[in-house]
Amino acid sequence: MTQAHDGGWIPVRKDFVDLDTRCHARGNSRRHHGFPHGQAYILRDAAGHEYPFGEDCARAAVAHPGLLLQVPDYTGRDVVPRSALPDPIPAGVRRGRRSAAENAAAERLAAIRYLVLRMEKVAAVPRVQPTVRFPALDPVYEQYLRTGDVATAQVRRILAIERAPSTPPRLRATNLLDVYTAHVKLERLIAASNSVDNIRFLRGLHDWLARHLVLTASQLAAAGIEMHPQAFTSPGIWGAAAEAASRAVPAASAPPDPNGSLF
Ligand SMILES: [Zn+2]
Repeated sequence: MTQAHDGGWIPVRKDFVDLDTRCHARGNSRRHHGFPHGQAYILRDAAGHEYPFGEDCARAAVAHPGLLLQVPDYTGRDVVPRSALPDPIPAGVRRGRRSAAENAAAERLAAIRYLVLRMEKVAAVPRVQPTVRFPALDPVYEQYLRTGDVATAQVRRILAIERAPSTPPRLRATNLLDVYTAHVKLERLIAASNSVDNIRFLRGLHDWLARHLVLTASQLAAAGIEMHPQAFTSPGIWGAAAEAASRAVPAASAPPDPNGSLF
């Protein structure tokens, strides 16, 4: 699934793209369409390069459309008008209980998504608090970058970290997805704004988000950001304990990890 074959396109992820991005596929009109909602499927060619595709174009490009269900989706906490959503991809196997293989596939996606959110997407937010990047995940993240996959044992390890009591609620998967989504939306608003005062206000919110890994409902409203109705409402992310747990720990005072232990 992660190796290109016969020059075909390999789906990598569903993700946000800049609003001026054009689809890599050429439609019947021979013109590239854009992404009015700023979301695209990212497909990899045989040479390893990644390009954005619209959903229909991605379906046409891959070996079978079900492959698009087997990539991590980083856009799940965005809000897209229902009328703008394409028809759901026929899953074929959505009846009844999930099989063991389907469960394993879903866990693999959840693990990759958490790994990439924590080590790459949220870690790359400017001035983000240093607790986001987790040194214990470095080897598996490097392996993922090399191979495009994580082994089954590493899937369990990553999910155990995400669920561990020692992992602050603001560093769990759903909240990191909210942080990433709000970061993308704030950057878009900053890029589109012509008002110095508004840009200063938005940058202030962005810095707050980077430091605290949350935004309040009133901050979201003041910025004009539309997100998932449950954005930043995950259990445990508010209150004094969450604030203390999410306080940045200087790297020098982090506990040593002599035996490669995770926690
Ligand atoms: Zn297209």
